[in-house]
Amino acid sequence: MKIPFLNFDEMHYPLRSKMIEAFTNFYDRQYYVMGDSLKLFESEYATFSQVNYAIGTSNGLDALFLSLKATGIGPGDEIIIPSNTFIASALAVSFVGARPVFVEPRRDTYNINPDLIEDSITSRTKGIIPVHLYGQSAEMKQIMEIAKHHQLWVIEDNAQAHGSEFNGKITGSWGHINATSFYPGKNLGALGDGGAVTTNFEDLAEKVKSLRNYGSRVKYHNTELGHNMRLDELQSSFLSIKLPFLKEWTQKRRQIASWYSNYLKDLPEIILPEIHPNSDHVYHLFVIRTKKRNSLQEHLNQEGIGTLIHYPIPPHLQEAYSSLGYKKGDFPIAEELAETSLSLPIWPGMTEEMVIQISEKIWEFFEGPN
Ligand SMILES: *Cc1c(COP(=O)(O)O)cnc(C)c1O
Repeated sequence: MKIPFLNFDEMHYPLRSKMIEAFTNFYDRQYYVMGDSLKLFESEYATFSQVNYAIGTSNGLDALFLSLKATGIGPGDEIIIPSNTFIASALAVSFVGARPVFVEPRRDTYNINPDLIEDSITSRTKGIIPVHLYGQSAEMKQIMEIAKHHQLWVIEDNAQAHGSEFNGKITGSWGHINATSFYPGKNLGALGDGGAVTTNFEDLAEKVKSLRNYGSRVKYHNTELGHNMRLDELQSSFLSIKLPFLKEWTQKRRQIASWYSNYLKDLPEIILPEIHPNSDHVYHLFVIRTKKRNSLQEHLNQEGIGTLIHYPIPPHLQEAYSSLGYKKGDFPIAEELAETSLSLPIWPGMTEEMVIQISEKIWEFFEGPN
């Protein structure tokens, strides 16, 4: 049986008629951007995130950019981000003219190590972007304390962790202003690009609303230099249909993760995900680690099992960031993770048989057929 890295059947098939009905309504209403569907989804997503405001955006990168821009972070400022993250976290910092300053993750949870943050704070530091990598919340209590002590903004990158929690408090509600993505493959995905900013602060919410829409609150009255970074009506209505099912899908991801852990725990050659005692994991990705990553991936590929690497090159070693002047060896933990991580399939609808099949192929790779 072939097992793809990602498959939407279980999530999308039961919603097919609702989705088509939403499209029909959208089509007939002839209102495509900045209408009632956006407003409705924004209020639903704010409720879900336990914040006062959610503002739909064109995608996750733009949500991060708008969050940073709303706080006034700009040229000359430094923003602390984990050294092992998707490039978007760093790009948003660069696009407001600030400099990303990388801090190493913990070797076990893969999230930014709060104990190392203070060493990287300078007089130019204005904020911290914790990334809830792979679906596990970063250590938000300590991060918020450090930020308060040094008067820094906290902007959560919640693109991979919709509905995750730290100390029982949901991600996307900890920081002053937070960003998420609804890229199709995320735990809550649109059928195209989308994103959102969440915040409890009215002034920041108003600023983001203006910046995402040409710097105007009243049509053709532009009070600042804004952007076009809006979430459209169609994607908003699709997201409203999918949001009520997110909890159920997350439960399924957790079940699959526990099957993997069960079938792989006795295999000494691989490292399984570890969860911080106060964190919650929504398993956007199920990432294992092994020194033989590349040949394991090749073996699984030959067996028809799809895997991906998140991420093969850390931001500080990307060609796009050569101007920052980093070299190999500067962030050894991030580099080691990039060389050893492998993401196994984890999508609602996977059965225990599929997990057994994948696990058997992994055992076979290390120990030979028995
Ligand atoms: C996906 C992702 C983003 C960017 O979201 P897009 O919608 O693709 O722009 C940002 N940060 C992280 C950690 C992501 O995984």
